Amino acid sequence: MTGAVAAEVVAARLAAVRERITAAGGDLTSIRIIGVTKGVGAATVAAALAAGLTELGENYAQELRAKAAALETQPPPRWHFLGRLQRNKVASLAGLVSCWQSIDRIELAEAVARRAPGAHVLVQVNVSGEAQKGGVAPASAAALVEGCGGAGLVVDGLMTVAAAGDPDGARAGFARLAALADQLGLRERSMGMTADLEAAVAEGATMVRVGTALFGPRLRTGTR
Ligand SMILES: *Cc1c(COP(=O)(O)O)cnc(C)c1O
Repeated sequence: MTGAVAAEVVAARLAAVRERITAAGGDLTSIRIIGVTKGVGAATVAAALAAGLTELGENYAQELRAKAAALETQPPPRWHFLGRLQRNKVASLAGLVSCWQSIDRIELAEAVARRAPGAHVLVQVNVSGEAQKGGVAPASAAALVEGCGGAGLVVDGLMTVAAAGDPDGARAGFARLAALADQLGLRERSMGMTADLEAAVAEGATMVRVGTALFGPRLRTGTR
């Protein structure tokens, strides 16, 4: 991990992200900003919380645990789990995660339900069809949502990661996720990252997951 980003730099970046959301027609009272902290040191994360960020996202179980333990902010941030998740990591996260955003198979839903009964989750949908992307196929989303409910989880909505480097494709994917959420009667649409924030807001995102725009570029996956 690189050195801490100065508190006023993080605060200015958070203000800039808020401006981007507003400029895209979004309402800051109904769109939540999840600060994605993979590879970001605890001191920088603490600066973001001091600047008014209240929700954080992590892709790696061990990193989430380490940061949650290191942060002394009161009240503690709400953690969203975003990454590919193995069932054997669920127990270690159960007391820490407020929203499990990467539920992509019934076996994982059942593991979360066992360790964190009644937990709030999002079903991750692969709207781009790219093989390397996580998420259930759109046609299978309804069944997984129902399965999560049957396991005793609370499904708040859907999450997706758009195709990178394809703005038109990203926007079409976000529209698809929003339509699916409408169809299933689900409120939350977690979509949009640093590069495609505006398209996601235009298509009705209720949560945007922002890493680079807040914390700077990652040097390589998982490091910054
Ligand atoms: C890393 C990551 C983000 C944030 O990406 P940026 O482009 O840095 O804003 C959002 N969502 C998920 C699932 C991620 O893995």
